[in-house]
Order: sequence, then structure tokens, then C-alpha cells
Amino acid sequence: MDNPTADTGQGMDAEHHDQPLFGGYEPPRAERLSPDQRRTRRQAADIAAGRHPLTGRRLHPDADATRTATSPQDGTPTCGTCQFRGLIGHHNKAFPKCQRPGAVITHGAASDVRAWWPACGSWVPKAGA
Ligand code: SF4
Repeated sequence: MDNPTADTGQGMDAEHHDQPLFGGYEPPRAERLSPDQRRTRRQAADIAAGRHPLTGRRLHPDADATRTATSPQDGTPTCGTCQFRGLIGHHNKAFPKCQRPGAVITHGAASDVRAWWPACGSWVPKAGA
């Protein structure tokens, strides 16, 4: 038995078939982000809110929460000038990690520490920095 409410597509000419349902309104599409992109956004939001992306704790009092990956070195404390940031080798690659005692180090990018990040409260200047 035929379903009288079924849309078979018959009877709709090609001109009407391609028109948007609501007269030109295009609903916003959900942005598709990779896990790395989502993490990068979350980290930027942490920094903007005055939280360190790795520890989640308040930034160093002299750190600049407006820093971005392209900010020039300006003398404010960053992870890149901290003695605890170091490279850990694994499978012919080097990963920047915080080696402060008690810091959590995973085998993934979630615990990588960017040199440009404003420092956390445990920052200790690197010799010569
Ligand atoms: S201890 Fe140093 S390297 Fe580690 S998160 Fe704090 S500022 Fe960055």
C-alpha cells in the first residue's frame, strides 16, 4: 500500500529542488576541528583566562596572558625561559615537556609545553635567560 505522506521526490521540479528551505538562510555549520585544534583552542582560552594550559593553575604574576605563538620575546616569564622545560627523546623525536618535580608527563601531545606559553607560578629562570 502506498504511503500518501511519503516524499518520493516526484513532482518537485529541478528549479525548486535546489532552493534553500528558508529563503536564503544558511544554518551555521558546526565547525569540525581535529583533536589537536581543539586542544590548541582550549590552551589559548586557558591563557586568556590567566590559567596555565598545563597545570590549570594561575599564571606567574609577571607573565603576560596576552601572549600568542607569534609574540616576540619580551622578557616576561615563559615556559621557554624556564629551567624545567626540556626535550625528552622518544623514537627519534624530541618532545618539549615540563620536568618540574611532580609535573605530569604523558606520552602524548597533551603534556607538551610550548616555549611561548606564559609561565606558571613554578617558573625558575633558565641560566642565562
Ligand atoms: S615549571 Fe616552567 S616549564 Fe613547567 S609549566 Fe611552569 S613555567 Fe612552564
